[in-house]
Formats: sequence, C-alpha cells, structure tokens
Amino acid sequence: MESVLKYDFLIVGSGLYGCVFAYKAKQSGKRVLVIDKRPHNGGNLFCEKIENINIHKYGAHIFHTSNKMVWDFVNNFVSFNRYTNCPLASYHGKLFNLPFNMNTFYSLWGTRTPDEAMAVIDRQRKDSGIIEPLNLEEQALSLVGKDIYEILIKEYTEKQWGHPCNELPAFIIKRLPVRFTFDNNYFNDTYQGIPIGGYNKLIDDLLKDIEVRTNTDFFNDRDYWSTVSDKIVFTGRIDEFYNCQFGKLEYRTVSFETEILNCSNYQGNAVINYTSMNEPYTRIIEHKHFEPESPFFAQNKTVISKEYSSDWTENADPFYPVNDYTNNAIYNKYKELACHEKDVFFGGRLADYKYYDMDDVIEKVLNDTEKIF
Ligand code: UDP
Repeated sequence: MESVLKYDFLIVGSGLYGCVFAYKAKQSGKRVLVIDKRPHNGGNLFCEKIENINIHKYGAHIFHTSNKMVWDFVNNFVSFNRYTNCPLASYHGKLFNLPFNMNTFYSLWGTRTPDEAMAVIDRQRKDSGIIEPLNLEEQALSLVGKDIYEILIKEYTEKQWGHPCNELPAFIIKRLPVRFTFDNNYFNDTYQGIPIGGYNKLIDDLLKDIEVRTNTDFFNDRDYWSTVSDKIVFTGRIDEFYNCQFGKLEYRTVSFETEILNCSNYQGNAVINYTSMNEPYTRIIEHKHFEPESPFFAQNKTVISKEYSSDWTENADPFYPVNDYTNNAIYNKYKELACHEKDVFFGGRLADYKYYDMDDVIEKVLNDTEKIF
C-alpha cells in the first residue's frame, strides 16, 4: 500500500553516509528528504574556497581505498587527481618522513639498508620486553621500538587523543604502516587521490535532485521529524539519539586556525605533523598542495590551517570516537537498542561510533542499501 507520509526516508545528516544513502534511495525510486543542522551539506567533507583554493574546512580528507567497488562508485561522480599523501613529521625542528620507512630510519639512525634498520628496530623491540601489547604505548614499543615511539608517536598521540598512550587502545596506530622500503606513501591502498574540483562536487552530484534542508536540527523538533517519513536514517551521535540514557559517549573535536599568507609555497607539502608537545597544534595543512594541477597553484597566496585537538563538548563538532574500553561498553548498549529498531537505520562515524575512513563509510552504505532496497 502506498504510504500517506510525504517521504519514504528522512536522512538525518548530509555527511558521506547520508549522501550516499540518499543517492541509492533515490535511485531505487524512494522519496527522500535530507536534513542537516549545519548551514551547508557534505558533513566534514565540505570545502570552502578561499583565494581560489579548496580549504578542507574540517580537516584534511584524502581519499584512499583498495576496494574496487568503492573506487568505481566514487569515480561515477568525480575524477581523482594523482595526489599521494606523503606527510612529514617535525620534532624539535628536525623533519622526518612518514609513515615509518627507510627514509625515516636513515634520518633517525643513518641506517642505509633494510638489514641495518631492522637490526636497530629488533634490538629496541626486544629491549621493550613486550610480548602481548595491551595498549597503544606497548603496541608502539613492540612494533617500532623506543626511538620512533618517543620522537614520532608519544606526544603527537597524547595531543590528538588527550590521554596518555598507555591508556589508549592499541588499534589506533595499527593504521600506520611500517616499511623497509624508501616509500613515503602514507597509505597502502591501491587507489588514492583528491576529487578534481573538490569534495563539494562529489557531494553535490550525490544529492542532485534530492530535497535537502540545511540549518535544520532534527533534535529541535524530533516529534515533527518523526512523522514525515516511513523510515529514518540517522547519522548523528547515537548517544544523543537515545537521550544519553546509558551515559554520554566521549568524542574528540578538532579546531582550526586558518591563515592566508602572501607567499606561493609555505611548507612545500600538504601535511606536516608536529610530533612534540612544544607546539600545541597537531599538524599544519597547506591546502593548495592537495591540488597541484589547479591553475591557481602558482599564485602568490597560500592558505594554511593549524589543527588543534581537544575533548568534545556540546557546542563543538564531534570528530573522533574515543574507542576505549569504557566508551565501547556504553556504545554496545546503544547498539543493542539500535538493533531492535525496525524503521531507523544508523550509519557513519558518529552513529556507528567507529573510526571509519571515507571508503569504509561508502562500503558500509553500499552494503546496507543493497540489503534494504
Ligand atoms: N600517529 C602518530 N604520529 C604521527 C601520525 C600518526 O603517532 O605522526 C598515530 C596517532 O596515534 C594517530 C594515529 O597514528 O591518532 C592515526 O593517525 P592518522 O594519520 O591515521 O590519523 P587521522 O588522519 O585519522 O587523524
């Protein structure tokens, strides 16, 4: 029977999960409304143009995946440039290549061959005496040893997460490759790049011909929004959805200090991490380097953003779930409730309380919508 409600799906949040869901629903002939409390759509992918440069307003987003289905999907909407993320780390004025590779080892110890570097790391791993790492500190020491841990991991991680490394879960740094080749590519994935024309183009294409209302907060009139559609796709904080009845989940937020500089090239790279406590920020992004093919690349202006990490509070945007034991236990209680919902679907970093990358999110929507439609 045809529903009397105006929409089949109300999608709360126009981030990547919401947009891809909306696109797939529309393609299946569903009537869709997307709402977002921010003044723009695209969630944290949103870019703002300053001096003709796409500014990653909510932090650097570099698309990378090894999933061909995900890569083919995004390439239906945009082409990608050949940007390869090769961040540097600055520690007490000295620069090191990331991820941890032969270039890093050469700068640290002067080791020239994989055997020489492995010998140093093996010695330091053994010295740590750790067999089964129980936290991030032990994971790092048993993976790369004391020097790399102290120079490139410890203070950076404590700035980013606001907890001592021995209180953080080990999985956070399992994301980082360790390589015995001279390869500064941060990601191991098959495909990588930045959308030509920026992320807004991807978002706009996904939402083409779909009704979107920005500046519209679901929680300002939850009763009303619950009556407009048969089903809801919720991509916000899952604890907020359930009125924090099992307690609040912790998130980290990030803030940015953005400056326009009268020079054409400030730091010679898109990303430089500051791995010591001497600087209060975690990294400096120079946005133009994400799109070196831009006709404005050589201009005598550049834009940089210093990134600061702190605990999330109500008036800020939540960026990272803090997936430690306590928070995961609380999340599991919300998840239990979510599993019993028939007309509400959850997805994305905030609703799934997972440290997803963009490709993980797309893979999840494609799988979810395959089942739903
Ligand atoms: N990390 C580090 N030093 C670095 C870069 C990363 O110790 O220079 C650790 C840190 O704990 C961080 C984790 O690796 O939280 C994951 O880093 P990634 O660059 O993947 O974080 P994201 O870009 O998602 O913020």
